[in-house]
Amino acid sequence: MSSQLILNDLSLWLDTNTKPLVISGPCSAESEEQVLETARELAKIENVKFFRAGVWKPRTRPNMFEGHGEEALKWLQIAKQETGLKTTVEVGNPQHVELSLKYGIDVLWIGARTVVNPFSIHEIAESLKGVDIPVMVKNPLNPDLSLWIGALERLNHSGITKLAAIHRGFDFFKKSTFRNAPMWEIPIELKRLFPHLPVFTDPSHIAGKRSLLTEIAQKALDLEMDGIMIESHWQPEKALTDAKQQITPSALNELIKNLILRERSGDFNFETKLEEYRSEIDRLDAEMIEILARRLNIVDAIGQYKKENNITILQLKRWSNIIQERLENGRNLGVSSDFLIKILELVHRESIARQAKIFHSRD
Ligand code: PEP
Ligand code: MN
Repeated sequence: MSSQLILNDLSLWLDTNTKPLVISGPCSAESEEQVLETARELAKIENVKFFRAGVWKPRTRPNMFEGHGEEALKWLQIAKQETGLKTTVEVGNPQHVELSLKYGIDVLWIGARTVVNPFSIHEIAESLKGVDIPVMVKNPLNPDLSLWIGALERLNHSGITKLAAIHRGFDFFKKSTFRNAPMWEIPIELKRLFPHLPVFTDPSHIAGKRSLLTEIAQKALDLEMDGIMIESHWQPEKALTDAKQQITPSALNELIKNLILRERSGDFNFETKLEEYRSEIDRLDAEMIEILARRLNIVDAIGQYKKENNITILQLKRWSNIIQERLENGRNLGVSSDFLIKILELVHRESIARQAKIFHSRD
């Protein structure tokens, strides 16, 4: 289903000349001192235009730090007055919206856990009727572009015309390098469908760790995202939430200085297709590794079984049958015998080595 978003001129709420535009601040507002110290340092960085902080934290389990709520909004108000930075917080329900407006928050954002639920988005959208405030919508936890677009549309239908999307990666059931799989083809497709919608990338929640932030931020710029949201904290290692991924404002300054702004190619179709292919390769590699692991586990079980029954490890006849059968299979699928035999031999060698280890162990 095609749709259009009615959007206001971006320059009404974004500094479109700042490249890259940066939104930064702690994962959570923890104390007045932490908010102010962090904001003061961030205000010295030219690219940082918005100060973010979570004041209501959606936590997986109860009895964890859930944010300071209204009290923290007062700290943000002071930070704004003192530094001139615009403020942004996450809202998850109409009460959050009401309080954020009361304390002069400039921009609202809706978190990944809320975007998955159209009922919640509907309630928030209703509470925003008649309010002129920019709203940024994070991608839902699951890689569902329609759900993301649905949230943007619901807000737009309520009269919110200052909208942006935040790409924070997608929950991935398998362990991977990233805390949340970036699946870049999804935000790229969003940009293709809505060329006037600003899309920011949140490298912090994609990475889950400091060491990957620069790489992801650079990729976001290379893919023509409109800005980045990076979590920063005056004392990251002491952070109450997301400690591993936060950086100091001075580390953020360094990171920004190291980013390269390239010329825009503007060819979204090309980028989208390329990212689709790459994601497919990533998925297949992950599957291949999992299958290899499963195969080796079975090899171990066979080793154990042979040992208990006093049978030798190598059974030549079985091995030569395997080879014939697999090569035939490969030929039918267009995989050359030369290549396949190398892989099969490697797998075989590893299998024998593992079984030998089992034979020589004492239990
Ligand atoms: C956050 O920005 O701190 C946050 C909770 O993000 P997300 O909704 O992307 O998990
Ligand atoms: Mn966070």
